[in-house]
Amino acid sequence: MIRNIIETNLPKLANKKGAVELGDRSAYIGASDIGQCPRKAIMSKLFPQPISLEQQIVFERGHLAEDIVHESLLEHCRESKRKSVDAQYEATLPGQPNIKAHIDFVLNDFVEQKRTVIEVKTASMVTTPYDSWINQCIFQQGLLMLENPEIQVDGYVLVIDLKTGALAEFKVDYDEVIFSELVAKAEWLLAQLQNPQEIDYDGLPLYQSILCGYCGVKDTCPAYADKGKLPDDLKDLIIRYAEINKEIKSLDKEIAPLKETIKAYGPFRATVDGIKASYTVSEMMSLDIPSLKQNEPDLYEMYSVLKKTDRLNIG
Ligand code: SF4
Repeated sequence: MIRNIIETNLPKLANKKGAVELGDRSAYIGASDIGQCPRKAIMSKLFPQPISLEQQIVFERGHLAEDIVHESLLEHCRESKRKSVDAQYEATLPGQPNIKAHIDFVLNDFVEQKRTVIEVKTASMVTTPYDSWINQCIFQQGLLMLENPEIQVDGYVLVIDLKTGALAEFKVDYDEVIFSELVAKAEWLLAQLQNPQEIDYDGLPLYQSILCGYCGVKDTCPAYADKGKLPDDLKDLIIRYAEINKEIKSLDKEIAPLKETIKAYGPFRATVDGIKASYTVSEMMSLDIPSLKQNEPDLYEMYSVLKKTDRLNIG
C-alpha cells in the first residue's frame, strides 16, 4: 500500500519541483547538458525515457545531499554576516536565454567581493572528479563572470557518498579556453534542439565515459553496444582495480599460513594489544543441493528461484 502511494506521488512531486526549479528542460541547454555526451543530451531531451521508481529514488539522493549542504551554508552565512547563499541560482548566457545554468549554490562574500560556485554530486567516492563535472563547473563559473565581470569567481565540485557519509571537495580552476569551447558546444546543441527534423541521429557525436552506465538512451547507442570498446576513464579504473587486486592476492598469500598457524592453537577469545581476536569452531546444518536435485527433482524444482548474479573478473 505505501509503495503504491510513493509510486504514484513521488514522480508527481519530482515533476512539480523540477518544473519550479529548472523549468522546461527540453527547451533550453543547461550546464549539465554541455558537460555530458552530446548524443545523450539531445536524445534524452527529444525522446525522454520513462523513469522507474528505483531511478526516481536514486535521483532524490541528489536533493537529499543538496539539503545537507544548503543547511550548512545557511548556518555559515548566518554566523559570518558578510556572506549569503543562493540556491539553484540561474545564470544565463548574455543574448541567449536558452543557454543557461542552474547552479546548485552560489556563496557570495560581500567583503572579498567573491562568488563561489558549488556543484553538489552524489556518488561513490572518487579520487578525481569526472570531466563532465569539471566542465559543468567551469561553464557555471564562466556565466557568473559574464554576469559580474568585476567580481572574483571560483568553483568547487562537492562529492557526497550518501552510503558511507564520505565527503570530498575538488577545486575547479576556471579555464577561458574550455569555457569558449563549452559555449560553442552549447550553441551547437541548441541549434540541434531547435531543428530536430535536420538531425542526423546516426551521426550524432558521442562521448563515451563511465557515466554511460547511467545513460537513459544507452540501449540504442552504437558505442555502448560494442562491449569490447571501453571509455578511457573505465579503462583507468580497471587498471587500478587490477593493481590493487594484485596487492590483495599477494597479501592473501602472506596471511594464509599465519591464519592456519593461529587456528592450530584451538578456540580462544581475547584482546591482544587492543586487538580483539577470537577463533570459534561450531557446527551447522547445510543443504546437500546436488543430492536433493538428484533424489527429489520435483522438490528441487519447486523451491528453485531465478536470481540475478554478477561477476567481475579482472586480472
Ligand atoms: S551510452 Fe554513452 S556514448 Fe552512448 S549516448 Fe549514452 S552517454 Fe553517450
